[in-house]
Amino acid sequence: MKYLLFFLFIILYFAQFESGTSQTENNYSKRVFTVILDAGHGGKDPGTIGLSGIYEKNIVLPIVLKIKEYLNKYDNQLKVILTRSTDEFIELKERGKIANSNNGDLFVSVHCNYKKTEENDKNGFEIYISDLVKTKDAENYTLNENLKYKPSNSDTLSKEYINFKSVFIPMLQNAFFRKSEYMAGILRNEFAKSTNLQSRGIFQDAFFVLIGASMPSILIECGFLSNKSDEDYLKSDKGQTDIAKAIYKSIIYYKMDFEFENIFSVK
Ligand SMILES: [Zn+2]
Repeated sequence: MKYLLFFLFIILYFAQFESGTSQTENNYSKRVFTVILDAGHGGKDPGTIGLSGIYEKNIVLPIVLKIKEYLNKYDNQLKVILTRSTDEFIELKERGKIANSNNGDLFVSVHCNYKKTEENDKNGFEIYISDLVKTKDAENYTLNENLKYKPSNSDTLSKEYINFKSVFIPMLQNAFFRKSEYMAGILRNEFAKSTNLQSRGIFQDAFFVLIGASMPSILIECGFLSNKSDEDYLKSDKGQTDIAKAIYKSIIYYKMDFEFENIFSVK
């Protein structure tokens, strides 16, 4: 009996050790980088409408499909999830849910801009990350269920989108914010190198689609559909290819850094 207990103890000890080792290996091997690509708008929501009448939703979708194609060609270990792959309407909060349920490591939302009526002509790309202050202010808010969808020429949260009645979505953690900033920097450089578009800078604002995704997140306004030269470029296959390549290269760059950091996080 004494020996039996001894052997049982030995078996349990090594079983525990064994399962501990494989657990670590499994965790590491399962750590496949997942990027969520979000083509803005879609379906009944056209987004902004260009000078020539083209819809934002019909520019950002081919760009996102190209990014996916390039990423899949480059690296079959990388997982690419699209919030939409066709011309369909997906609610903003659904996009965040898709990102979170797929354990995304990076969320990239692609849009086109339009100047406000009172503004002078504007051109160039803008990169947005979530504003932590505005996001914190919004912690007690939620989407007004009756105003979930409102056609708008702006991607920023309008007051109608949020109200005080119920509970808000999880706010971005500081670590996500720092990584989002890092990705925004990479993206700005790649855009400047690979596209004809002017850089207007990196901005912080409260974008619902960014707040809803609990991971590093950026939103790119690829150019202004209210500007003739930007619109011509955004509509062209060359423009869409250049933009897709800039975003694709930025994601690969970010992923390399992610994997480098991961090596040191393995215990
Ligand atoms: Zn948009």
